[in-house]
Amino acid sequence: MNKLKKMTMEAGAATLMMLSVFSFGGATTVTAAKSDIGNQNTMAVAWYQTSAECKALYLQGYNVARQNLDQSLAQPSAQPRAIILDIDETVLDNSPYQAYNALHDEQFPNHWNAWVNAAEAKPVPGAKDFLNYANQNGVQIYYVSDRAANQLKATKKNLADQGLPQATDDHIMLKGKNDKTKESRRQAIEQNNNVIMFFGDSLTDFNDPQSASVKGRYNDVMKNANQFGSKYIILPCPMYGGWEGALYGNDYSISDAKKSQARKSHLTYFNPKNNKVENKTVTEP
Ligand SMILES: [Mg+2]
Repeated sequence: MNKLKKMTMEAGAATLMMLSVFSFGGATTVTAAKSDIGNQNTMAVAWYQTSAECKALYLQGYNVARQNLDQSLAQPSAQPRAIILDIDETVLDNSPYQAYNALHDEQFPNHWNAWVNAAEAKPVPGAKDFLNYANQNGVQIYYVSDRAANQLKATKKNLADQGLPQATDDHIMLKGKNDKTKESRRQAIEQNNNVIMFFGDSLTDFNDPQSASVKGRYNDVMKNANQFGSKYIILPCPMYGGWEGALYGNDYSISDAKKSQARKSHLTYFNPKNNKVENKTVTEP
């Protein structure tokens, strides 16, 4: 076998490994192999759904919030007390949606509308008890979410079906046409209320970081270090979020291969070949 023919055969074999061949009733269809970018979420979803530690983090957040609320209730307040909560992964658990995509190597926004419209999400641990306690104590509860405006009806149904209080049109503020961030909705609430706490799984549930890069987001957290556990109640979401977008330069339109590469290139790792920690991508405090 000459060298060129051997190389051609090797290339052909490699190509075949990259392709899936399906045969239906005699007709053969060849499709390019899927990337594993959706499958890569499997561990994050497994941790979110099954780890007791994830549940404990939610309980910790809502327990701290209750202590803060009790402190506030002991003081006079000129304006009505209010709290502002994100919905997804802050009040409602969408991990069954994430799990389907992880199992089928798919990504958001595939099937998102179907999931929202099914209104089947359950509350995260601690949310229902805390929100009912806040409601009983006269606190105004605002759900500020970047779900689309046309998902209001299903969102309202989901919250109400789960016994979450104040799930009304006035208290659910979804993303409007002109809303780039949540800031204007926060300001509208703050005009007439004493907002005592913000709840979220993303920094943008609290404020707008000056820069949405990995470093900029980290700087934002350090700048607001004293707010966490007092005014800001942060909850866990390892499945997606602004942290992921930062890895891609906030450009989700890049290819799956580039996304996969960006995930890896941000890892700081110990190199056993030279006993050094290499590729330090996150600024130390
Ligand atoms: Mg969220």
